[in-house]
Formats: sequence, C-alpha cells, structure tokens
Amino acid sequence: MVVNKRLYTVLLSVIVLAGFLATSLIGYFFAKDSLTDRLQHEMLPLTSDNIYSEIQRDLLQPLLISSLMANDVFVYDWVNGGEQDASKMTSYLAQIQKKYNTITAFFVSESSRLYYHPSGVLKKIKTNTKEDAWYFQAKSSQQPYVINIDRDTADKQRLSIFVNYRIEDKAGNFIGVIGVGLSLQTVVELIENYQKRYGREIYFVNRQGDVMLQSSQYNPELHIQNKASLDRAFLQILTSPSASLSLKASNGSMLYINSRLVPEFDWYLIVEQVNDPSSERIETALLINMSVTLIISVVVLLLAHVALRGYHGKLETMATQDKLTGTTSRQVFEFYFKQAVARSKRRDDPLSLVLVDIDLFKKINDNYGHQAGDRVLARVAHLIKSHVREEDIVCRWGGEEFLLMLSGCDMADAYDITEVIRSAVADLRIPFNKEVVNITLSAGIAQMQTGESLGQVIERADLHLYQAKNAGRNCIKPDKAENE
Ligand code: GH3
Ligand code: MG
Ligand code: MG
Repeated sequence: MVVNKRLYTVLLSVIVLAGFLATSLIGYFFAKDSLTDRLQHEMLPLTSDNIYSEIQRDLLQPLLISSLMANDVFVYDWVNGGEQDASKMTSYLAQIQKKYNTITAFFVSESSRLYYHPSGVLKKIKTNTKEDAWYFQAKSSQQPYVINIDRDTADKQRLSIFVNYRIEDKAGNFIGVIGVGLSLQTVVELIENYQKRYGREIYFVNRQGDVMLQSSQYNPELHIQNKASLDRAFLQILTSPSASLSLKASNGSMLYINSRLVPEFDWYLIVEQVNDPSSERIETALLINMSVTLIISVVVLLLAHVALRGYHGKLETMATQDKLTGTTSRQVFEFYFKQAVARSKRRDDPLSLVLVDIDLFKKINDNYGHQAGDRVLARVAHLIKSHVREEDIVCRWGGEEFLLMLSGCDMADAYDITEVIRSAVADLRIPFNKEVVNITLSAGIAQMQTGESLGQVIERADLHLYQAKNAGRNCIKPDKAENE
C-alpha cells in the first residue's frame, strides 16, 4: 500500500514535470529554429538587397553623366583637333565636376595617353603599371563602361568609385576613356548604419578574398581567410555568386553569413551576424518558463499529495470503522484477529472472544422507531468501549451484535468484563422523546484454542449466545469446557 502510494507520487511527479518540460523545450526549439531560419533566409538577405540597391541607385547618376561625356561632340572635336589646348579640356572637366557635384572628372586620350583632370594634366598613363591597369581594362572591355574602385590619382588618400566610359569615334575606333569619380562615403555610411542598427558586420571583399571595404577604415591587408571563423567558409563564399551559411565560431557562438557578388564592383558584399540577439530573449523566456513550470509542478504535486492523503485517510477509516457506532467494522476484524493470535502465541497469553447481542431489539424499533434503535446501538457501543482496554477490539458483527476480542483474557477474565458490561447496560436509561428506553443484552464467550480458526471460535461463541438467549436473556454463557 505504502509502496504503491510512493510509486504513484513519483510517477505523477515524473509525468507532470516531463510534460511541462517537454512543452517548454519544444516551444523554445521551435522559436529558435524559426528565428534562425528568418535570420538566414530573410533578414540578412534583405540587408544585402537594401545595400545593393542603394549602391545601384548611387551609381545611376554618375553612369549617366559619364555616358553624356563619352558622347559629347566637344570631346570628339577636341581629340580630332589634335588635343591642341589642354585648358579647354580641363575647364570642360571642371565644369562637369562643378555642375554635377562629383568628386572628380577625368579624360585619358588614347593617342597621347595624357590624364586630364579639372586641375590640369596630371600624368601620362603607362603600360604595365598596376596603378594604370584600369585604363587598359576599360580599353579592352566589351562593355561600354567599366567601374573600378581605386585610390584617386589626384588624392591618394581617398578611395573612390570611378566610372570609366569608353569613347569611340563614328568609325568605332577607340579614342579614350572618360568619366567621373564619386566618393565611397555614402556606401561606408550605409554599412555603418546597418552595423549600428542591427549589430551586423558588413564588408566587401574582392574575388581574391581581400577585404576591400569595411566600416570607416580601409585595410587592404586583411584577407577574408583571416577573419574570425571564416577560414573554413571563405572558399564557399568566393566560388558562388551568393551564399548563405551558418558556422559555429570558436567561442561557441553561431555566425550567420550572407554573401552576394556585386557585379558593378566585382566585389562580394558580405553581411555577417554573430549570434542572433533575439535568441538571448528566447533563452530568458525558456528560463522563466522552466521556473514557472517547476513552481507549478511542485504546487500541483503538493496539492495532489495532500488531497491523496486526505482521501486515503478517509477511505481507510471508512473501511475500518462502522459509521453508526464508531466500532471496528467486520471487514477488518480478521486482520486484527490474526495480529492478536500471533501476539498471544508469542507471549503465550490467552485470547477470548465475546459475542454480544441486544435482547429483543426488534421491539425497540417497533415501539420507539428506527431512530431510537440507532441511538440505543450507539449508546451501547460507547458503553462497551468504555469498559474494555484500548488494545481490545470492539467490532460491530451484525445489526445489534458486537464481537469483543479481549487480548490476555482467559475465560474467567472475559466473563468478568462481560458481566460488568451486561450489568451496566441493564442499568442504562436511554432518554428518547420524553420516554426512557432500557435494554439488556446476552453474551456467549469462547476462549481461543490452539490451532482454531476464527470461524470455529465464533461458532462456539455463537452457540453460547444461543444458550444465553434460551436461558431467558440478560445473561452470559461461557465456554462449555470452562463450565465443566
Ligand atoms: P433477540 O433477543 O432474540 O436477539 O431478539 P431480537 O429482536 O434482538 O432479534 P433479531 O435479531 O431478530 O432482531 C434484530 C433486529 O435489529 C432486527 C433489525 O431490524 C434490527 N436492526 C439491525 N440493525 C439495525 C440498525 O442498524 N438500526 C436499527 N434501528 N435496527 C437494527
Ligand atoms: Mg437481539
Ligand atoms: Mg441479533
């Protein structure tokens, strides 16, 4: 019984806790999964798209200006005229720069290889120098223009975007490269803004993986391979036009990366986010969830335990006690009997059973009503109990029959006790509705013999009770053996 109860409590605790834990954890993993998914497939690509479209928008105007310059009759005429007056070209470029507010405007003539700038002729383009490679790239290009990002010839500190527009004459002969330069500042501001707002790192790398542009500082030495945790991913980024990756960084946090090729620059735009900031919120939610779960579980289990104990106790008394008289019920008598037999054997003590029956009880019911009968029963039971010891058992054996088990009593002791009870009951005056009810009882006694069963002792006691009734009631009949 006790083992069962404990098992039941443990089982209940395990089920409640497991249930609550499972719900919290499933919720947590779902939230985390969908968040990671959103970050990787929506948020980072969206940042990348926004930056790209801003770049395209920024390039639109310089492209248009450069195209106008490449088709300007003045430029053709001036080149055809043998580049006579350099100041005409430089003031033309100065005018463009001023009118469109570009950071520079330039022209390189194919025949003279001179580099014209609003401030004058700056230099002569040389073949085989890294610095002037852009010119030959534009010259051999199949496209009308080539965009490159470079340090400005006029201002070596500044990194600018150049639109290098090819000029061809009417016959299709290449005559030079013309265009404008614009500051990378807007792009830098853009990526800094995203960095600040979302904690995302944004930078550009060229096809070789060198970091070309990142917020504020330009560090051409840095290679993507040397960036934290990217040593394993850089090849994947550099070999596909767009990639979406997630990596575990060496410090255990997750790194989410989105890359895309920006064809205008021929650079990769990389958006990187270390651990997702909302995942911390989800983890806090999980902790709160689990604490609440634990508290609720403990409260539920405590309540269940208290309720269970209450019911259990109630059930136990209900099963072991007679409701009307408060005496031991017949169902559990055998249990007490076996205990008493074992005890008496151990101690070599006698044990006697007394079967008590109220005389002519039917008449009480008939004369005074059933309620009066009940009152008499309760009163008699109370009186019997008050005359036996605590360890003796008084059991309601039938309607108005009580079975007394007297430990350590032989026939004579049992007779004495029963006689006291008999005479006390006979003296009893029970008031009921202004009337006084009085009753008597008869009893048969049997002392427990070795090897006897409960049925056998009771049969003997019952026999003696029958004899007492036959002898005119209000008397006690002991065991025959004792009589002789
Ligand atoms: P006897 O002296 O031969 O024992 O006569 P008796 O009237 O007591 O005999 P019998 O056993 O025939 O009657 C017992 C009656 O007790 C019958 C039954 O209606 C009544 N009785 C049994 N249980 C209860 C009870 O819980 N309450 C009341 N009020 N009456 C009960
Ligand atoms: Mg009776
Ligand atoms: Mg009876």
